[in-house]
Amino acid sequence: MNFRNFKNVANTVFGPGSFEQTDEILSEKRGNSFMTFLLDDVFDGKELEKRIPLHDGDLLIKVDISNEPKTSYVDELRQQVMAHTGKAPDGVIGIGGGSTMDLAKAVALMLTNPGSSADYQGWDLIKNPAAYHAAIPTLSGTGACVSRTTVLTGPEKKLGINSDYTVFDQIILDPELIKDVPPDQRFYTGMDCFIHCIESLEGTFLNAFSRGYAEKACELCLEVFLASPDDDSEDADGKLMMASLFGGLSIAYSQVGVCHAMSYGLSFVLGTRHGIGNSIVFNVLDEYYPEGVKQFREMLAKQDFEMPANIMKDVSDDDIDKMIDVALILEPLWENALGKDWKQKITREKLKEIYKRM
Ligand code: NAD
Ligand code: ZN
Repeated sequence: MNFRNFKNVANTVFGPGSFEQTDEILSEKRGNSFMTFLLDDVFDGKELEKRIPLHDGDLLIKVDISNEPKTSYVDELRQQVMAHTGKAPDGVIGIGGGSTMDLAKAVALMLTNPGSSADYQGWDLIKNPAAYHAAIPTLSGTGACVSRTTVLTGPEKKLGINSDYTVFDQIILDPELIKDVPPDQRFYTGMDCFIHCIESLEGTFLNAFSRGYAEKACELCLEVFLASPDDDSEDADGKLMMASLFGGLSIAYSQVGVCHAMSYGLSFVLGTRHGIGNSIVFNVLDEYYPEGVKQFREMLAKQDFEMPANIMKDVSDDDIDKMIDVALILEPLWENALGKDWKQKITREKLKEIYKRM
């Protein structure tokens, strides 16, 4: 048995207002080049943008994440960063949700690895350590701040660049930054975390490391989302941030499962965003995750959201086939969910039948 030698984020700060420590933290990492900040453009002109500790010569790029990260966009961003002074920056800092954090990871990796980011979609294909990279989440649930992947949509597939070099050097977790997330987005990204935990807990790769984190994260998600939607206790933001972190740590030592595999397929073809896509898929997976789906529906009802229905009604059979192709590329997810003999347990017909239920 060969156990994973888990690579963790080197440094973590957690606490309300900790964003203010960014400058001090980065000052140690500044060399003779510049820092690149990737900021979700939802903050364009907002208070948070003004608080970024830019030094002379630093580069601030407001990233457009109206589509979730594509390999072509990562390649374009790398070019933009390199064109700034002609040399590589001292570091890349992503400020935003999972999409922006993933862009920061991918750009940092591509500053030191040749070719296109599409060449590295897969497991452990990256050869050289990334440039210094840090994350400051403004939305909680994906666990992207702690994972060893950056999820990218390429020309042929939606698949992460999974590698130890992907892991951030630094994360700054300031619960104040997530307080203004729109409630539906907060819920769906929160459900991403909940689903990570259920898939981890119900998977065959489960172990005490993953169980410990997943159980706590589930408990925190239930506390946050079974409370009344008007309960805006400040504590809830801190809890959600920790749930996201723990969920990420749980899957880092196990794996996600059926929901994520199918949701990648859905998103590749329809462009459905990760949080809502997972929720749509999870809502029809009673046979795989009965207890988790039941709790999901309780939280959905408590928060007074409704899942979109009949999303497949105008989707062609060819497109469903493409979804199935993408879902089946994710072999480790299927193995975690169904065991080593997963190929005997899941067929294209079965996947089609499940997709058609959405
Ligand atoms: P996101 O980053 O795509 O953002 C969703 C929306 O929320 C955007 O419109 C964004 O502008 C907005 N937003 C973000 N912060 C806000 C704030 N404070 N106030 C108001 N609006 C805000 O959403 P996400 O769910 O965090 O991330 C999804 C992405 O993360 C997907 O691309 C998915 O593939 C990826 N992902 C990565 C991992 C990983 O381990 N790397 C894990 C899960 C998901
Ligand atoms: Zn996820």
